[in-house]
Amino acid sequence: MTELTHTDHAGLDLPQQDASGADWLDRYSSALLGVFGTPQRVLVRGDGCTVWDADGNEYLDLLGGIAVNALGHAHPFVTSVISRQLATLGHVSNFFTSPTQIALAEKLLQLSQAPDGSKVFFANSGTEAVEAAFKLARRNSAPATDGKPARTRILALDGAFHGRTMGALALTAKQVYREPFEPLPAGVEHLPFGNIEALVNAVDETVAAVVIEPIQGEAGVRPLPVGYLEAARELTTRSGALLILDEVQTGIGRTGSWFAHQPSGIVPDAMTLAKGLGGGFPIGALVTFGDTVSSLLAPGQHGTTFGGNPVATAAALATLHTIEVTDLLGHARDVGAWLRAELATIDQVTEVRGEGLLIGFDLAGDYAAAAVSEALNQGFIVNSPTPNTLRLAPPLIITRDQAATFTNALPGILRTAKETTP
Ligand SMILES: *Cc1c(COP(=O)(O)O)cnc(C)c1O
Repeated sequence: MTELTHTDHAGLDLPQQDASGADWLDRYSSALLGVFGTPQRVLVRGDGCTVWDADGNEYLDLLGGIAVNALGHAHPFVTSVISRQLATLGHVSNFFTSPTQIALAEKLLQLSQAPDGSKVFFANSGTEAVEAAFKLARRNSAPATDGKPARTRILALDGAFHGRTMGALALTAKQVYREPFEPLPAGVEHLPFGNIEALVNAVDETVAAVVIEPIQGEAGVRPLPVGYLEAARELTTRSGALLILDEVQTGIGRTGSWFAHQPSGIVPDAMTLAKGLGGGFPIGALVTFGDTVSSLLAPGQHGTTFGGNPVATAAALATLHTIEVTDLLGHARDVGAWLRAELATIDQVTEVRGEGLLIGFDLAGDYAAAAVSEALNQGFIVNSPTPNTLRLAPPLIITRDQAATFTNALPGILRTAKETTP
């Protein structure tokens, strides 16, 4: 064995910052599985709401790694907490626990205003949090007894996105994601989006769970109609089905509340989290509300190697602490309201949706993809979840002045995009 010092990378070819974006993309297409298509840019550095690509171009990040970089890039406090934790204790396996894991679970229960007996399971991503929720739902599928039917059905909504692993994919509505991988886990039905009557007709004692995003992010930032969550709560309570909220995208202050369902006043049976939770570090979580739901999964029935590891949970603690002490919920509400009002004044914008800093807006035609690339050319990162929709999910720390550079440039971006779209 050769001794290595901490300054000696032993020939490891760390990314040279002098290679061009085009060179990197050549290497990308030779080495990476082609599931994402060609990446738009090769990013090498970030600071706050700004990122730089391999060719030295600067961008205002209005997407935040899709609602992940809640505190922007290279946040000094999160960086130092992660580094300190890694230098202290990095990984322990789930035969053991660590103070950061326990403290984060307690913090999430406090922020979610969960009743006594509520619990947390940690995973590493959104889809894993949803898989845990799926298994929780299956555990609510009591077998048929004396005339009672088994709970074999799980209800989700048209337009839903819950992830790419098989259980989460069964809950995801989009046919192009699902079809290549059928058969998917059985029992999932999709109901018309936002239709309370369809929910009333579908929820009965054969339903194990209803799984809902408070705002559908991937469908173009579609909020549920007023009263829908309340109706879902009432129907599931009456029938004994679990109400599972997927807050992977909407949680952690994104919508100006800690969790998007909170303004409605309802208490779910379970909630999935990920994206913003670690401030850029991978972590997911399932929160189960109350004793009964929290006892559905017994010892040995679920697990993970990395989930809840000390570094990831330290990153999340630092993120939640920063959001709390700097009042980023209020900030997200303020800047978000201002941004939505500005967007609504732009001619080519036909509708603006969302809460806080999760914003979707429709264009007068299907030129959102061209708008994304023209925005990049002009130094702005946005995304198009649907052909006529643009989505913004910037770091919660974005200032009104930064957002204004985008709204000022947007009419020109949309004009060019429209002209270049056949
Ligand atoms: C992104 C997302 C997921 C999947 O999360 P991954 O970390 O990509 O696995 C699940 N549900 C919702 C609502 C999401 O937005």
